[in-house]
Amino acid sequence: MKILLMGPPGAGKGTQAENLVQTFSIPHISTGDMFRAAVKEGTELGKQAKACMDSGKLVPDEVTIGIVRERLSKDDCKDGFLLDGFPRTVPQAEALDKILADLDTKLDKVLNIEVPNEDLIARAIGRRICKSCGATYNIKFNPTKVENVCDNCGGELYQRNDDNEETMANRLAVYEDQTKPLIDYYKRAGIYVAIDGRRAIDEVTKNLVEILKG
Ligand SMILES: [Zn+2]
Repeated sequence: MKILLMGPPGAGKGTQAENLVQTFSIPHISTGDMFRAAVKEGTELGKQAKACMDSGKLVPDEVTIGIVRERLSKDDCKDGFLLDGFPRTVPQAEALDKILADLDTKLDKVLNIEVPNEDLIARAIGRRICKSCGATYNIKFNPTKVENVCDNCGGELYQRNDDNEETMANRLAVYEDQTKPLIDYYKRAGIYVAIDGRRAIDEVTKNLVEILKG
């Protein structure tokens, strides 16, 4: 099972990725983890990526793609993997196709968790996080029993600075600009499936698993 999981910020992609890698016993390959591992292993590409990140520059595509190639060539990816956060652009998607063709394989499905922007903005505005244990709540969709008190540990809740309407709307606009061509690319390849991400987490997981088991 070789999957790319997509979804706008706040759509619950991270949680769904974790549920899918457990269900299918495949590695979760996120861009952040991949970079950290390459830097830690001290590979040539890892060193180049680190130099860019340390100087606050964007890691060039050739370095990112090289790191993806190294990661996908490892034994644990032979029977499947879930990609998360890569590719983000059509040139990266083309590079991924090339890597997979060289490994004599291809993506099975591209799953996109769709949530309308107004819902994502409402989720962001209502999000509250526990100062002590990091538990996440939502004043509208998943409130604590007692207002502003964590159900887990009794800690105080806070709101992240970037969980506001303006920041969220900007992030979503950037995301849409970036991913629209990518969605069209995978639609043309006939492996794109959109999933309704407005439902409860476990319902979305169930839907994703059904699609993948086909
Ligand atoms: Zn707590």
